[in-house]
Amino acid sequence: MQPIRSLELTLAILKPHIVKSPFALQKIRDLIIANDFKVVRSRRLILTTEEAEQFYADHKGKFFYNRLLTFMSSGPSDVHILAGYDAISKWRQLLGPTKVYQAQFTDPNSIRGMFGLSDTRNAAHGSDSKDSAEREISIFFKNFDTQKWFENEEAFYNLGGLHFDPRNFVHTIDKNSL
Ligand code: ADP
Ligand code: MG
Repeated sequence: MQPIRSLELTLAILKPHIVKSPFALQKIRDLIIANDFKVVRSRRLILTTEEAEQFYADHKGKFFYNRLLTFMSSGPSDVHILAGYDAISKWRQLLGPTKVYQAQFTDPNSIRGMFGLSDTRNAAHGSDSKDSAEREISIFFKNFDTQKWFENEEAFYNLGGLHFDPRNFVHTIDKNSL
């Protein structure tokens, strides 16, 4: 018998210019579902300067740091915990390269290739490693316990037993499947 593959969690942010644009937002949501990600948690929020600083601490001092913080706090973002097989690399692949002009050239069908406006306003974020995913999830979902999720909920997201709420863009455990 094949061992059951475990899901991986990643943190996705749909950045402010996407949330302002209903067409782009819907198209990206459709891509998330079409690529078989499960949406574990969703929040819409305006990042505080403190949250943006904490989130992008690694980039402090870079020439684009201030404009990045200003942009990320300029309006609501949609923040999602996504689950999938190899979710971290799969989501980053779907995003395409960080730099939008490169994305438009090499990966025109990627999210950044289609919806990025500039190197800063590059449509969406994805964690780059398991450690980053854990760190980033804990910034925006303070009560989310990754270990407990794997113990109690992963099986439903992996093997079935979910309800999809398209309005709130989240998958929840279908009580009827219990
Ligand atoms: P990624 O989001 O692909 O992991 P980085 O972690 O290197 O990329 O950068 C974080 C964010 O900072 C990017 O998503 C983008 O919004 C912004 N950024 C990165 N590089 C540049 C740049 N050269 N000019 C302007 N903004 C940038
Ligand atoms: Mg990064």
